[in-house]
Amino acid sequence: MKEEIKAYNNILDLIGNTPLISIAKIANTLPGNYFAKVEAFNPGHSSKDRIALYIIEEAERLGILKPGDTIIETTSGNTGFSVAMVSIIKGYDCILAVTSKSSKDKIEMLSAMGAKVYVCPANVSADDERSYYSVAKRLHEETKGSIYINQYFNQLNIEAHYRTTGPEIWEQTNGKITHLIACSGTGGTISGTAKFLKEQNPNVKVIGVDAYGSVLKKYHETKEFDTNEIYPYRIEGMGKNLIPTATDFDVIDKFVKVTDEESAHAAREIARTEGLFVGYTSGAALQAVKQLAEEGEFTSNSNVVIIFPDHGSRYMSKIYSDEWMSEQGFFDSVNVEDSQKIEF
Ligand code: PMP
Repeated sequence: MKEEIKAYNNILDLIGNTPLISIAKIANTLPGNYFAKVEAFNPGHSSKDRIALYIIEEAERLGILKPGDTIIETTSGNTGFSVAMVSIIKGYDCILAVTSKSSKDKIEMLSAMGAKVYVCPANVSADDERSYYSVAKRLHEETKGSIYINQYFNQLNIEAHYRTTGPEIWEQTNGKITHLIACSGTGGTISGTAKFLKEQNPNVKVIGVDAYGSVLKKYHETKEFDTNEIYPYRIEGMGKNLIPTATDFDVIDKFVKVTDEESAHAAREIARTEGLFVGYTSGAALQAVKQLAEEGEFTSNSNVVIIFPDHGSRYMSKIYSDEWMSEQGFFDSVNVEDSQKIEF
């Protein structure tokens, strides 16, 4: 009887194998063909499901983890959610150290997923014993049978994408991909995917998307860590104020920087043009493509794959809130009324 029922064993069976979707409508004025790898189709709604599953299963293979042990990470974002989800199914405790800057919604979402959340002060330096880094490190040292995911400095982050995202894109494009465009945060997605694709065809051009206010582009160009590049910006999940070892700068051909404002409008445009409700960094990736097209990067023979890392639902109080957009001044330079809201 059981054999006749077509059911997944659990939610983890649905991680990866995300669809590649043509975004021809939005790209209709650009030369070439454009496809989005839509990572919101992962069950935890982001690409981070891949690394959570891969890193935890690697620890199991090495015999470091047994049921009832503990997984620790320092994020209130997508990775935290994915780690909590994988921990539930595999029977681990999940501890997430986050800063007091994290929204109540995010903290409650992680609690809802069974994670124990430590809220640490945001306004202390990383080496302060109260910082979320220090708290996570201490908990890891004190907890026998625990692993610390440490996504910015874990090579398994790259490997997860080398083994999954890269081969999927190669197969989905039948080896015809010419360009990969991906936002870089930890750098795991772009580095692992690029490494696999370049092994198949060294001519695949890999372009990273960075934020104004982040050091990655300058570091790639000069190998210098320039603190003048660092200032606050609004896009969450990409760009960085340090150099992550989960980024392999050698497999990235170049970086493009995008603004908060243009990226926010681009995400809203993706939702309205393609019906794909995606997150802020998906908008950043599309904005980078527009800039690259203007620079003459693409031809009619280009097959461009753009990674859309997560789902729009996590940004309801930000880019999908007209109020927030207005507060940021993001509607000031828009001529047409952007909002479609009709109130009676
Ligand atoms: N977009 C979003 C929304 C993310 O959360 C992340 C991860 N920080 C990225 C893009 C970048 O992915 P990666 O960390 O693999 O570079």
